[in-house]
Amino acid sequence: MSELSQADEYLLDQIRHGAAQGWSELVDRYQGRLLAFARQKVRQAADAEDLVQDTFISFLKALPNYRRQAGLETFLFTILRHKIIDAFRGRKDNACLLVDVLKGDSGDAQQGSDIQMADSVATASWYVRRDEQHHQQRQLLTTALRELLDGYKESGNFRDLQVVEMIFYCQLRNKDVADVVGLDEKHVALIKHRCLGRIRDRVLRGTSGFDSDPPDLLLSEIWQSQRLSCLKRSTIGAYLLATLEPDWRAYIAFHLERLGCHYCLANLRDLQQQTKVETTRALRNRIMESTIGFLKRS
Ligand SMILES: [Zn+2]
Repeated sequence: MSELSQADEYLLDQIRHGAAQGWSELVDRYQGRLLAFARQKVRQAADAEDLVQDTFISFLKALPNYRRQAGLETFLFTILRHKIIDAFRGRKDNACLLVDVLKGDSGDAQQGSDIQMADSVATASWYVRRDEQHHQQRQLLTTALRELLDGYKESGNFRDLQVVEMIFYCQLRNKDVADVVGLDEKHVALIKHRCLGRIRDRVLRGTSGFDSDPPDLLLSEIWQSQRLSCLKRSTIGAYLLATLEPDWRAYIAFHLERLGCHYCLANLRDLQQQTKVETTRALRNRIMESTIGFLKRS
């Protein structure tokens, strides 16, 4: 989800050379999905528009420091998300609707602190490494997570994918995950255990010295910042056109409708809006073409 596409590379190049045309194309491409995202979080339409405008200004200011660690869309969403958090200081900002519903405002803080404490006692070795080692470790974990997700998709194991997605991307408790997928809690714990085992095996191939599983918080932070399980815009488009294989389609429906991933929902709403505009324009053209003759005669 996070790689920079060739089209994005080309646009960035133009923008860096000060080309207004390139900048206008980038704004056109991302404005709709950013606005749809802001509107999910902010009640006043005018506020949402201001936040999106500010996001584009910040994007240009931040461009010299943009390291391509995330794709353009993720980079823009991240700027916008921080602006929303700043504007509504103290408000919880979850990645998915499901989390908003299950955790609410009060339960969230409590659970967060529990996880942090458990992590800091058992898995300090993952956090003490700094700078280059830390960077390398994150890279290894990111690759391991990507490989794990690809493995689930290739083998069609969407159930386990959904379970680990809820645990790490949404940071839900095993019990909540069990309720959502209709498994018992022990089974969820087993799936999580197997997943951590695989990640650890993969990481150990690249390095050594870790005496425990990677902490949940670190995996969550990487999963969320890289949006590892988020959908390509073209996939969301195919979902709207109902052209996907049933298993794959069911998983996409889960990510969009059950989890309610705010980023992917923003893309979905933007695509639906575009379709509406195109349909309206097509109808308008049809009406114009079929009526213009009569106009001349009258
Ligand atoms: Zn998503």
